Amino acid sequence: MSRTVYLNGTYLPEEEAQVSIFDRGFVMGDAVYEVTCVLDGKLTEFDGHMARLQRSLKELEMVCDITRDEWLEIHRKLIELNGVEEGGVYLQVTRGNAGDRDFHYPPAGTPPTVVLYTQSKPGLVEDPKADKGIKVISVPDLRWHRRDIKTVQLLYASMAKMAAEKEGKDDAWFVEDGYVTEGSSNNCYIVKGGKIITRDLSHDILHGITRGSVLRMAREAQMVIEERPFTIAEAQSADEAFYTSASAFVMPIVEVDGVALGDGKPGKVAKRLREIYIEESRNSAI
Ligand code: PMP
Repeated sequence: MSRTVYLNGTYLPEEEAQVSIFDRGFVMGDAVYEVTCVLDGKLTEFDGHMARLQRSLKELEMVCDITRDEWLEIHRKLIELNGVEEGGVYLQVTRGNAGDRDFHYPPAGTPPTVVLYTQSKPGLVEDPKADKGIKVISVPDLRWHRRDIKTVQLLYASMAKMAAEKEGKDDAWFVEDGYVTEGSSNNCYIVKGGKIITRDLSHDILHGITRGSVLRMAREAQMVIEERPFTIAEAQSADEAFYTSASAFVMPIVEVDGVALGDGKPGKVAKRLREIYIEESRNSAI
C-alpha cells in the first residue's frame, strides 16, 4: 500500500514525491536526519530528537525554519494518515537544490529539502531478537570524525551491517585505536561486576537519545555507570552487553567476535533496562 509522505510542505503519495538530481543530499550526502519511534500511535522521545536535529543543523550551518510545533504537527499527521501503531517516522533535511553540482554551498536563502515518511514496524516491542540476544562482529571504524552530527553519510555503516550479515551475525561494532566507538546504528554497553560501561560522549560517537534516557533510568534504579571507552577483549570477558537505539530500545548482545558472553543468554541488566525503557517511553509518548 502506498504511503502518504511529506515533501517541502506537501503531503502526497510516495510515488509522486520527487527531489532534484542536483539536491545536495543526493550529490554530496549533505543532509541530516532523525528517526523517532512510534509506540501505540504516539511519538517517543520527540523533544530529544528535535533538539538533536537542531544541533546537527547548526553544526553544518544549515538553515531550516520549521519550528518544534510544526515538526510535531507533520509527524502526527503522517502517523494518522498512514495508520501507524508501531514503527517510526523518518525525517531528513538536506541543504536543498543547488541547481548544479558544486562543492560550494548554494547561496544563502536556498530552501532546504524536507522529507518525512513513516515506517510501520509491528513487533518492535515483542521482538524475538530481544529474547534471544544478538551477535556482533567488530570492524575498523573508518567513518569521518564528526559522528556526533547525524548525517545521512551511512555508506560505511551499511557496509559494516553487510559484513556482519555475511558472517551470519546481526550487527557490527566499530573499533578505533583499540577501543569500541559504537555499533553500526546504535550505542553500545558492557556490564561487568554490576557496573555499566559505555563510551563517553565526544565527536567520536552519535549522542544517542536512547542512550541519554537509558543512562538516566539506570541511575534512577541505583545502577552504577562508568562512561569510558572499552576494548573488544574487555567486552568478551564482560558478564553481559547490550546496545541502545530509538527503534530497538535496549537490545541484549550475547556474542562478540565469536565469543559468548556470560552464559550466552541475554543478561539481567539489559532485560531490566529494556522493560523500564519501554514502559517509561510509552508513558511519556506524545
Ligand atoms: N549511533 C549511531 C551511529 C546511530 O546511527 C544511532 C541511531 N541512529 C545511534 C547511535 C543511536 O541513537 P538513538 O538512540 O538516538 O537512536
